[in-house]
Amino acid sequence: MAHPFYTADHEAYRDTIRRFVEREIAPNGAQWEEEGSFPRELYAKAADAGLFALNFPEEFGGITADRFFYIILAQELARAGAGGVVSGLMTHNIGAPAIVALGSDEQKQRFLPDILSGQKISALAVTEPSGGSDVAALRTSAVRDGDYYRVNGQKTFITSGIRADFLTVAVRTGGPGIRGISILVIEGDSPGLTRTPLKKMGWWASDTAELYFDDVKVPVANLLGEENSGFHAVMEVFNSERLWMAAQSTAYSQLCLDEAVSWARQRNVFGRPLIEQQVIRHKLVDMAMRINASQALVEMLAWRMSQGEKIGGEIAMAKNQATQTYAYCASEAVQIHGGMGFMRGVTVERLYRDVKVNAIGGGAEEVMKELAARQAGWM
Ligand SMILES: Cc1cc2nc3c(=O)[nH]c(=O)nc-3n(C[C@H](O)[C@H](O)[C@H](O)COP(=O)(O)OP(=O)(O)OC[C@H]3O[C@@H](n4cnc5c(N)ncnc54)[C@H](O)[C@@H]3O)c2cc1C
Repeated sequence: MAHPFYTADHEAYRDTIRRFVEREIAPNGAQWEEEGSFPRELYAKAADAGLFALNFPEEFGGITADRFFYIILAQELARAGAGGVVSGLMTHNIGAPAIVALGSDEQKQRFLPDILSGQKISALAVTEPSGGSDVAALRTSAVRDGDYYRVNGQKTFITSGIRADFLTVAVRTGGPGIRGISILVIEGDSPGLTRTPLKKMGWWASDTAELYFDDVKVPVANLLGEENSGFHAVMEVFNSERLWMAAQSTAYSQLCLDEAVSWARQRNVFGRPLIEQQVIRHKLVDMAMRINASQALVEMLAWRMSQGEKIGGEIAMAKNQATQTYAYCASEAVQIHGGMGFMRGVTVERLYRDVKVNAIGGGAEEVMKELAARQAGWM
């Protein structure tokens, strides 16, 4: 039966990404996690395979595509169970959209082709040590000095922060609140910028950094859009990132289920396969129920967006629904694996460590609920 959303073009794209993941990520993911990094060459390979272009303007190396391509990409990338590799590899998804939304043609030409071809790495730097949920309160300052801004302050938890060539940085150029925020593209090798790696619970293969800006001179030519007009572009990026995270968390949940089914079939307890224990089969069904609900929600939101609808609060709810599903499935999958689920190198052990960041990054669960309640018009 024809699928209501996925066409032959979608399926061909799925196939391309699946082959890329099987060839480039799956055989190496576990080792790269242990090593805490993955090779820089992967960016160019990923770009060549069509992973970077989606939803970017064609004249700068992008491809016009609907949201279902985006969901396919998010979900196929999850299949290797290498969350750290994927989160590091795909930071252009959060670093580059503000360049498209606010940048001049000259800026787009300067930054996008190199990013979308995997030659340069893009990252987004919004969160600060004083707080990430309250973006409107950010403090890193950019003060105009002739043809430059002088940037002072600190960012933290920045994915690809160490290796990024172009950092899309939210700074304060004006007064307090959302109307004083601008976005600058700051080159990674700028004098006065110090980058310190951070160690994490999961996502080991991605680099996560603290950034210190000590009087960093940034050309005014690197300001995206008008001064003090950056806040809404940051919010748009987060909205898109949340749909990505909802889709990806659903796919990681499916991976937890697949691993649990496979283990339950091969493992014997009390003289028979684990899957013959009714309680285990019921756990698997409880996982599948939640996965189906998350997948249906993600696809329906993508369809409504492709009809031109602007959606915010429901994406926030979908992010919570899918990340809670992932947390549930990762926990149950480890439980079904028993002691083996606690062992390093086992896929579900890695997923169990990776799961927590999804309820925090891209907007914490509680912040998503606030957004959803506000957009529902309840307050
Ligand atoms: C691995 C990783 C990668 C990341 N990558 C990036 C990146 O590339 N770029 C970037 O800019 N940021 C990044 N972040 C930062 C992430 O977006 C923030 O951690 C997140 O927005 C939360 O901010 P915070 O950590 O400062 O927590 P805080 O804002 O201090 O909040 C702490 C906790 O308080 C609770 N809370 C907050 N607000 C409310 C509220 N209104 N009501 C009730 N409870 C609330 C929530 O439980 C929240 O988790 C990353 C984080 C991690 C862990």
